[in-house]
Amino acid sequence: MNAFEALGLNEQLVRAVTELGFETPTSIQEKAIPVLLSGTTDFMGLAQTGTGKTAAFGLPLLQLIDPSQRHPQALIVCPTRELCLQITNDIEAFKKHSRNIYTEAVYGGASIMMQMRNLKKGVHIVVATPGRLIDLIERKAIDLQKVKYVVLDEADEMLNMGFRDDIDFVLKNTINRESIWLFSATMPPEVRAISKNYMESPKEVTVGKRNSGNVNIDHQYFVVSAQYRYEALKRLIDFNPGMYGIIFTRTKADAQEISERLAKSGYEIEALHGDLSQQQRDKVMGRFRTKNLQLLIATDVAARGIDVDGITHVINYELPDDMEVYTHRSGRTGRAGKTGVCLSICHSREIYKIRSLEKITNAKFHKLDVPSGKEVCRKQFFHFMDKLMQADLSHGDYETYLPDLIEKFETVSKEEVLQRVAALEFNHFLKYYENAEDLNRPESRDRRSTMQETGGRRDRGQFNRRDSGYTRLFINLGTKDGFYKASFLQFILDESDLKKEVLGKIDLREMNTWVEIDMDSAGRMIKSLDGKRYNNRIIRMNEADGGFKRPSDEGRPRQYGSREKRNFR
Ligand code: AMP
Repeated sequence: MNAFEALGLNEQLVRAVTELGFETPTSIQEKAIPVLLSGTTDFMGLAQTGTGKTAAFGLPLLQLIDPSQRHPQALIVCPTRELCLQITNDIEAFKKHSRNIYTEAVYGGASIMMQMRNLKKGVHIVVATPGRLIDLIERKAIDLQKVKYVVLDEADEMLNMGFRDDIDFVLKNTINRESIWLFSATMPPEVRAISKNYMESPKEVTVGKRNSGNVNIDHQYFVVSAQYRYEALKRLIDFNPGMYGIIFTRTKADAQEISERLAKSGYEIEALHGDLSQQQRDKVMGRFRTKNLQLLIATDVAARGIDVDGITHVINYELPDDMEVYTHRSGRTGRAGKTGVCLSICHSREIYKIRSLEKITNAKFHKLDVPSGKEVCRKQFFHFMDKLMQADLSHGDYETYLPDLIEKFETVSKEEVLQRVAALEFNHFLKYYENAEDLNRPESRDRRSTMQETGGRRDRGQFNRRDSGYTRLFINLGTKDGFYKASFLQFILDESDLKKEVLGKIDLREMNTWVEIDMDSAGRMIKSLDGKRYNNRIIRMNEADGGFKRPSDEGRPRQYGSREKRNFR
């Protein structure tokens, strides 16, 4: 008997997973599938991405669905759009032979109208991110009355991202459910609280950590404000002469823009992204492979499948949303017994991600300061001098020039020759870094020690955001206007066309809301909203007076950033 069949799965599902190349169930699948197939048992699975957890809940769900009932019977809630799409794709693949089961992915950033239309046609399984789901509930575009199974995937990540109220709301809106299946990589008290409040004697299953940590990789991170990202990247490149690396960005636009800026300053860099033709890609890759290109800058999609030997550094221009992606990125270095370094430029609000990464990779991440201009110059200087001393003199007929050279430099000291060589090579460089700013966040040192003491999670609420480049805005909209946190967030982001990353904590009250926001983006947010109308009321938005450090915040987890030709060979 096939091992999946032995777990109780029907023939169609067994056929689908066999075609996907699954031969034996993973540990979480073995433990979860028989329990979940009962349909009525609450379940808590402590499992990370990569353990096969999607199939662990996806397969039993598909078996439990009654195709003749065209309404949502299962609801899967997950933190990010990427995960939402990934789960949907996996479920599509699992249901290849199970007929007439329909799935819809609902997530922000895509047309809500289209999603509403698809829901209206009648779907059995809805995979959703919390914000969009609540928006749809509020618009009465989704009926959760007949949902029997609620899956919370990456519950800890959802809570980290400030979706606690939203999860509560969803659970309160699925009153006729028969079971909740919760998956989480970690089990902090907030996740336990969900289980305590909503689940009945859940069956708990833990699967071991995958050994994804590559001991050859040194993970380092640098905390800077959003506006210094590019400058920090430049410094890290300059501080590591000889680097042969890949820089990862989240967007094509970033990859393109950064490569153009760096190339203009004389760096050997090219971007790899989806807009390139196959021929262009091959050309870039050819140059990179043969080390005629020092740096490659790429999006994750474009870099898929790239396997190049001897990469010394991977740089995350921004941390990815999906922690699994980090492992893929960093795995480009430290191959075949060599050592490698993975550098991440991150915002102070992303430090919680570093903590999750430490858990997932089972590796220590080292926080380092972005080198100062002086340090960069010194490093470059000695790198050059080392190269000078290692220059191969065996081929040129240098002796023949020596008598003339000795005569020419008779009155010049050794020190002066060295200085002149250095000046020739470094004047531009020294000038660039002459008045270089300190890119490190002033409070980062204090914070680091607190992070270490507290394990990094609790102290997020104690962080004085004003010092960190945040400001707080007041707006006269609140729950009385029908907002939930997610729909409010969606509203202000849609209106201002800003990204979620610029926001900090959202304090939604009945009558008003306080929004923490990166200083740089505050003006745009106010301009986009202040004076506009919402439900016939004039919106007032302005910078809130006073500091942010309200006593009530203490300890509360956050609810919610030429000459420079390189000498690398
Ligand atoms: P997940 O943890 O759900 O993200 O799954 C991680 C990866 O493992 C996915 O690419 C799955 O397709 C794959 N996978 C899941 N279950 C199995 C299995 N039993 N055998 C082989 N591969 C699997």
